[in-house]
Amino acid sequence: MVAPKLVSVTDLCALRFCPRALYLRLVLGFREPAKPVMVLGSIRHKVFEEANEVEEALVRGVEAGVGRQDVLASFESVYADVLKRGVSAFSSDLQRLGILQSDVSAQLSPAVLEQARQRADEVLSFSSKTGLFGGQLWDGLSPKIISELYVASERLHLKARVDRVEVYGSEYVPVEIKTGRAPSEGVWPDHRLQLSAYMLLLGEKYNSSIKEGIVRYVSSNQQRQVVMNPFMEYEVKGAVNDVFALMENKDIPNVCGKGYCTVCQLGDGFEGVLVRKASY
Ligand SMILES: [Zn+2]
Repeated sequence: MVAPKLVSVTDLCALRFCPRALYLRLVLGFREPAKPVMVLGSIRHKVFEEANEVEEALVRGVEAGVGRQDVLASFESVYADVLKRGVSAFSSDLQRLGILQSDVSAQLSPAVLEQARQRADEVLSFSSKTGLFGGQLWDGLSPKIISELYVASERLHLKARVDRVEVYGSEYVPVEIKTGRAPSEGVWPDHRLQLSAYMLLLGEKYNSSIKEGIVRYVSSNQQRQVVMNPFMEYEVKGAVNDVFALMENKDIPNVCGKGYCTVCQLGDGFEGVLVRKASY
């Protein structure tokens, strides 16, 4: 049996943004040529994924009597190593783009160290609230953070890489961090769709009912909740079917007309700028 094709949650949102851009990518295999910002994004994702893997050792190292500054320093030093490994993993991409590894490290370092300090403080505050240290602290720690979690479901025909999942005992909360501005209330429709899909995927993976998801709009320091409801599955399935329908199209959809759509700005000249991948 041929495995049913899975649509990525990113594509559900991409279709809402621009059917033409998604069609060119999914059906015809066109990609925008690698840009520095994309490589930087990939490095950042890799750093968060690896920081997740070293967390247990860091938390177990928080022993009774260890001062806050020492804990901060140990988180910072481990995160700095993780960044170094992340940058060197992308050395060939960086070289092709003519970017120095040292410049990338300097650019990403402040945010990575800030993340290290924040997480160290979360762990310390949990430790001081509960009086737990070392192995017991790790066992009792809540929330535990899972970064860059890959989830897929053949039933939903969906796959995703979730940036961050917070685990409170047996409760899983997907958290999406957005740099753009927040709406005056709630979350943008695309973000709602994204979180709904994550909640369904996590619910299936952990066989648990997911109650909520969170969008953090970092630029305005706002945290918004998306509450699970019975209609979400219909909405997500509808969005998945829309992507399958687009893939059946014989013709390239018209330009979307959004001034900030980088693909439609190219008009009919897209073939001269986009790169066609042999395998996609
Ligand atoms: Zn467009």
